[in-house]
Amino acid sequence: MCRKSAIFRAAEYLLGYTFGPFFTPRHGEKPATQMHRDAKIYVAGHAGMVGSAIVRRLREKGYGSILARSRSELDLMDQRAVREFLAHERPDYIFIAAARVGGILANNTMRADFLAQNLAIELNLIEGAHRAGIQDLMFLGSSCIYPRDCPQPIREEYLLTGPLEKTNEPYAIAKIAGLKLCESFNQQFGRRYVATMPTNLYGPNDNYDLASSHVLPALLRKAHEAKASRNPELVVWGSGTPRREFLYVDDLADACVYLMETGYAGDLINIGTGVDVTIRELAETVMKTVGYEGTIRFDASKPDGTPRKLLDVSRLSRLGWKASTSLQDGIRRAYAVAPFMSPTN
Ligand code: NDP
Repeated sequence: MCRKSAIFRAAEYLLGYTFGPFFTPRHGEKPATQMHRDAKIYVAGHAGMVGSAIVRRLREKGYGSILARSRSELDLMDQRAVREFLAHERPDYIFIAAARVGGILANNTMRADFLAQNLAIELNLIEGAHRAGIQDLMFLGSSCIYPRDCPQPIREEYLLTGPLEKTNEPYAIAKIAGLKLCESFNQQFGRRYVATMPTNLYGPNDNYDLASSHVLPALLRKAHEAKASRNPELVVWGSGTPRREFLYVDDLADACVYLMETGYAGDLINIGTGVDVTIRELAETVMKTVGYEGTIRFDASKPDGTPRKLLDVSRLSRLGWKASTSLQDGIRRAYAVAPFMSPTN
């Protein structure tokens, strides 16, 4: 996208909220554009697992003007501060990788925090971007937005066709609100606010805190500790039979940048590998990577969750993108940089 003149952008800022439809192209009409290497790109949540991967990918591709703010510099729940920041900086592109994120326990016990904080962050950034006349934005949702019992693999059309999983319903509702904000600003004001729905992610900067982490980082840490303490048994929650999909976070970042660069302006879009494994297979791959030779004991008193969760990624495949990191390679790379591998931890 070309940088707009300062005068045009100032006028758009003043008038855009009311007269946006007259100043911006209709949804879907925007031609596929290449991002300029000098485009100003704001990555919200740049220090998190996803945000840091997006920053890495953008830098690898030669984007030199990346904007980032830590939480102490800009609290994204502070609407006035976000509006002022966006109006002042006027980034050409925004990636929203900031969110209150956590595993099943955190989601289920801090329900009000997950709903309120995610709604506030999304509204402040998406509505704030529109106010500031920013045309291109990407919002990251999550596969938990889909109904609990939907057919597999999960197609984008299944959104809002059935009840959500209860344990993370507040988080899912916030994410659905985020993608509906994108859709509505696109329809009403001709914006290109793309909502992506990634599957389970893992990689550098993941959360390895056992109280709040997701299954893959938790297994990696537990296997590492079992090996270090010569524990002959690795306890894994549930029966080991549920099937899950895992995407290496650098592949996710590549897909996000790809969609932004190629001018994708369609509806919400799933991002995954299209392949799933059982929890048993996952645990075995983790054990092999770590070099842990004990045995697995499945703790059937712990819940399994839904039997299968796999995204249908045909919409993304048709656009020419495919994940390139195998599960074995991704786990090896994540393990090599895990914080508990450092001698200071
Ligand atoms: P992280 O927790 O690693 O990163 C989130 C980032 O958001 C952190 O840098 C955090 O800052 C920042 N943040 C949160 N609240 C605020 C705030 N009020 N003000 C400023 N910054 C804030 O999460 P992930 O990288 O894993 O997730 C990013 C996105 O990807 C989320 O939208 C999530 O839903 C989505 N996603 C993640 C999946 C996963 O498996 N991890 C799967 C599917 C989707 P601080 O460090 O200060 O807390």
